[in-house]
Amino acid sequence: MGYVTRIVIIGGGPGGYEAALVAAQLGAEVTVVDCDGLGGASVLTDCVPSKTLIATAEVMTTFDSSYEELGIIVADDTPPLEQAARVVGVDLGKVNRRVKRLALAQSHDITASVTRAGARVMRGRGRLKGQQSIDGSRRVVVEAADGTSETLTADAVLIATGAQPREIPDALPDGERILNWTQVYDLDELPEELIVVGSGVTGAEFAGAYQALGSKVTLVSSRDRVLPGEDPDAAAVLEDVFRRRGMNVLARSRAVSAKRVPGPFTTEGPSSPKAGEEGRVGDEVEVALADGRVITGSHCLMAVGAIPNTVDMGLEESGVKLKESGHIWTDKVSRTSAPGVYAAGDVTGIFALASVAAMQGRIAMYHFLGDAVAPLNLKTVSSNVFTDPEIATVGYSQADVDSGRIDARAVKLPLLRNPRAKMLGIRDGFVKLFCRPGTGIVVGGVVVAPRASELIHPISIAVDNNLTVEQIANAFTVYPSLSGSIAEVARQLHTRKTNAE
Ligand SMILES: Cc1cc2nc3c(=O)[nH]c(=O)nc-3n(C[C@H](O)[C@H](O)[C@H](O)COP(=O)(O)OP(=O)(O)OC[C@H]3O[C@@H](n4cnc5c(N)ncnc54)[C@H](O)[C@@H]3O)c2cc1C
Repeated sequence: MGYVTRIVIIGGGPGGYEAALVAAQLGAEVTVVDCDGLGGASVLTDCVPSKTLIATAEVMTTFDSSYEELGIIVADDTPPLEQAARVVGVDLGKVNRRVKRLALAQSHDITASVTRAGARVMRGRGRLKGQQSIDGSRRVVVEAADGTSETLTADAVLIATGAQPREIPDALPDGERILNWTQVYDLDELPEELIVVGSGVTGAEFAGAYQALGSKVTLVSSRDRVLPGEDPDAAAVLEDVFRRRGMNVLARSRAVSAKRVPGPFTTEGPSSPKAGEEGRVGDEVEVALADGRVITGSHCLMAVGAIPNTVDMGLEESGVKLKESGHIWTDKVSRTSAPGVYAAGDVTGIFALASVAAMQGRIAMYHFLGDAVAPLNLKTVSSNVFTDPEIATVGYSQADVDSGRIDARAVKLPLLRNPRAKMLGIRDGFVKLFCRPGTGIVVGGVVVAPRASELIHPISIAVDNNLTVEQIANAFTVYPSLSGSIAEVARQLHTRKTNAE
């Protein structure tokens, strides 16, 4: 029998498990070490749970915001005066039980497919041990929860340990009132007044979702507007929608602390018979802002970014260089500075997306195992903010165009003019395309719409394949459809290009 290449993967999120599948298919002997369960944070606490919660919020918003216009009669249309628009409610305990069930099932499915592919799955905490051996191999020590440990030898190691919520020392989560995004699924009752600290993607998604579910939401943003990293037109639409729906958006407001204080909210929620009883403490949250203001709510969700899981991993002793931020430095084929050690996913700080983590993991394995490999190309990554409306983007951005990083022309078309949007009662959103001035090659796009995550795909294909606006404009779209706006905006860019010639 010939020599079988041994691969050890530390971390079983999308970066790790996708790499395991590829490596096993390519004939390697693969071990995946994970301390929480395959699927990683992506499946157990981040993407999958949040998008499952948002699925409930989405149905509620769609109904709440359009039922009247669409002529739907609700039998008992007598909501309290202060909630004039609210005709549906939510059982958060039930929603969260579904969230956890789906996440666990997904983790089991992944474990089954990784095992079926022939990889060994080990539950435990892994770390690199020492420098590369004389024969080029690496050692990984795995410590199980029961204290036992095992040392594995590998020809290559992939570190895909992800990241965890960043904490502010004076606003540490207690899991009940002050929460991080992994803890919200333990809530049985909807927060009455939720303060969300942080207006990046995670903060905006949760703020929008809880608002839709019925919480009174305050979004604390340290920047001028929500979603500072996204397309400014898209962020403006979302902020406008948030405010219109009653969200209290505090711009240029940095939170410095959050603490539990005695207050009017019981842990069991407003309908609890305990409400009003004496002796309750710590049932309100005070969030202090840098300018001295103090805001209060029943709960606070901290969404102030993530830090990479690189501590106590034996990285620097093994020659793995870290960036100042603590992330692992990698090149475009996922190599670290240490021979035989690769890294993928959030631990590299390149793009905090499950799809990018998976791509980095696969690239690492293709590279090490000698298969054809294309280096990571970040200019074709598509991503989505799962708010209502959703914001999907691909390729070069408005910031790239404005800063002169790329010479491109843009056209933006509001969805308001789209016939299908009118029929569905959709008012907010747009399609924006960027193309090269001379050739008309599509280099990027933004879609702000319900299910923009699905609508972005034709633009993504165009960017990936250097298609022109003319080619997009000429492809048939269904009438009436929201994707008709993508063809229409391409047509406008093409016409302007032709007129300019
Ligand atoms: C709230 C939220 C929502 C998100 N939604 C989306 C989305 O909709 N779409 C999207 O593309 N991205 C989304 N992301 C980002 C996405 O979750 C991450 O980019 C993705 O999880 C990164 O995958 P990963 O493989 O790097 O690590 P992870 O998924 O974080 O997995 C790492 C695994 O390694 C384990 N581990 C850590 N240290 C060790 C160790 N020493 N030994 C063994 N195991 C270890 C961890 O326990 C974990 O199981 C979201 C993020 C958040 C916070």
